[in-house]
Amino acid sequence: MASAADPDCLFCKIVAGKLPSDRVYEDESIVAFKDIHPQAPIHFLVIPKVHVATLNDFDVEHAELMGRLLLTAKHLASEHGLPGYRVAMNVNREGGQVVFHVHLHVLGGRPMKGALG
Ligand code: AMP
Ligand code: ZN
Repeated sequence: MASAADPDCLFCKIVAGKLPSDRVYEDESIVAFKDIHPQAPIHFLVIPKVHVATLNDFDVEHAELMGRLLLTAKHLASEHGLPGYRVAMNVNREGGQVVFHVHLHVLGGRPMKGALG
């Protein structure tokens, strides 16, 4: 579901500043911050400010926002001098999603390992 904010959502609280985060990027529609349990020397999360639970809740009207999420990942990688990096999104519990507010993982700072799944 896509809505302005979900009061029970961890990442909506981060967007609203009700929970602390180490922000690395913000614009009118997107926030990016450091993952609290980094799995690589660089591990950022890029999220929309609006509450969207999973990739499955995006529709064609979100196409621009979806593009902006990816462009933010590219921007952050460039800003941090990453020669290569990995962008990943977990979808639903079976896909490894724990926080149900859409987010891109941006990982880098060392060569990525081969296995994705
Ligand atoms: P996922 O498994 O794709 O839902 O990933 C959720 C990610 O959010 C995990 O990598 C967590 O380490 C991260 N995370 C959870 N709580 C916080 C928090 N308060 N601040 C930053 N990252 C968080
Ligand atoms: Zn949310």
